[in-house]
Amino acid sequence: MLPDSSSMLDAIIIGSGAAGLSAALWCDDLKLRHLVLERRADVGGQLHWIHNPVANHLGTIDAANGRAVLDIFAAQLARRDVSIRTNTEVTRIDALKHTVRLAGGEEMAARNIILASGLRRRTLGIPGEAEFRGRGVSASGTRDRNALAGRTVCVIGGGDAAVENALLLAEVCPQVWLVHRGAGLRARPEFVERLADNERITPRLTTRVTRIFGTSSVEGVELQRDDAYDAEPERLPVDAVLVRIGYEPNTELLRAQVDLDDAGYVRVTHEHETSVRGVFAVGDIANPIAPTISGAVGAGATAAKVIEARHRNR
Ligand SMILES: Cc1cc2nc3c(=O)[nH]c(=O)nc-3n(C[C@H](O)[C@H](O)[C@H](O)COP(=O)(O)OP(=O)(O)OC[C@H]3O[C@@H](n4cnc5c(N)ncnc54)[C@H](O)[C@@H]3O)c2cc1C
Repeated sequence: MLPDSSSMLDAIIIGSGAAGLSAALWCDDLKLRHLVLERRADVGGQLHWIHNPVANHLGTIDAANGRAVLDIFAAQLARRDVSIRTNTEVTRIDALKHTVRLAGGEEMAARNIILASGLRRRTLGIPGEAEFRGRGVSASGTRDRNALAGRTVCVIGGGDAAVENALLLAEVCPQVWLVHRGAGLRARPEFVERLADNERITPRLTTRVTRIFGTSSVEGVELQRDDAYDAEPERLPVDAVLVRIGYEPNTELLRAQVDLDDAGYVRVTHEHETSVRGVFAVGDIANPIAPTISGAVGAGATAAKVIEARHRNR
C-alpha cells in the first residue's frame, strides 16, 4: 500500500535491492512512514544478476540463485505493509532539504532519505557497445551460456568475473578471446591456472578493445595494443562480446552534496549516515571493500533503527 500523501514521510528509500528492502521491512516494523522508489519494473537489484547458489547468507541455505533469495525476501515482505513504487526513477536529490525529484517532475520530501541505489556494471563506452547490447553484446556468461554455445566469443576484463566467465564459456564455445588492458590478470590464482591449461582460451594482454562492429549483430572487435598506438587496429572476427570490467556506484545524484571517496562510494558513519544529517547510505554504495547481501540487509536495518531512535527522542 502507498502511504497517504498528505503528511510528511519519515523516510524515502531510493532503491529496492537487499539494502532498500531491508530498510523498508524495518521501517514497517518500527511504524515509520516510508516509501521505496525503484526505477526498474521489478524489485531486487543485483539479486537478479546472481546465477549461482547463494549459500553464504543466513537463511538462504537452499537458494539456487539470487532470484530464489529474492523470492524469500518477497514472501516475507508480502506479509508486511511496505510501500514500494516501481518504475519510478529519482533524478535529483537535494540532500540538505531532504527532497527528491522523480523522472516526470514530481517532487517529494521526507524527514530522512535512505539511499540504497547500489552498483551498476562498468561499461567501456566504446562505439558498438550500447548499439549491439542484446545483439551479441552480453552481460552474463552464465545467463547467456546456451545462446553462446558454438560461437566465438571475446570476453573483456582481467578480474575474477572476466576469467570465470571465459572458463565457463570455453566449456561450450570453440574459441574464447580474453582481452585485458593490463599486463597481467587480476583474477584469483586458481582461475588463472585453469586458464593456462585451457586450449580454447587465448588471452590478449596489454590490449584494449576500441570498437565493436557488425551490421544487425556483432561481427567482430577492433583491438589496439597499448604498446603500439601508432599501429592500425587489428580486426578480430567474433560472434559475441562479454564486458566484465567491474562495477561502479550509483552515486552521481549525491556528487558535491555528501562526502564520497575517490571511486564515488559514499562515506558513512557507523550509523550509516552520510556527511549530511538525515541522509543515510546503505548497501553496496557505501561498501566498496566487502559488498554482500548480509551487509546490505544489516545496513538497511541500522539506518531504519537510527531514524526511529531519533524520532522517539524528539
Ligand atoms: C554476480 C554476483 C554474485 C554475487 N554473489 C553474492 C553472494 O553469493 N553472496 C552475497 O552475500 N552477495 C553476493 N553478491 C553481492 C550482493 O548481490 C550485493 O552486495 C547486494 O545485492 C547489494 O544490494 P544493494 O541493495 O546495496 O544494491 P542493488 O542490489 O544494486 O540495488 C540497488 C537498486 O537501486 C535501484 N536504483 C538505482 N538508482 C536509482 C534511482 N536513481 N532511482 C530509483 N532506483 C534506483 C536499482 O535499480 C536497484 O534495484 C553478488 C553480486 C553479484 C553481482
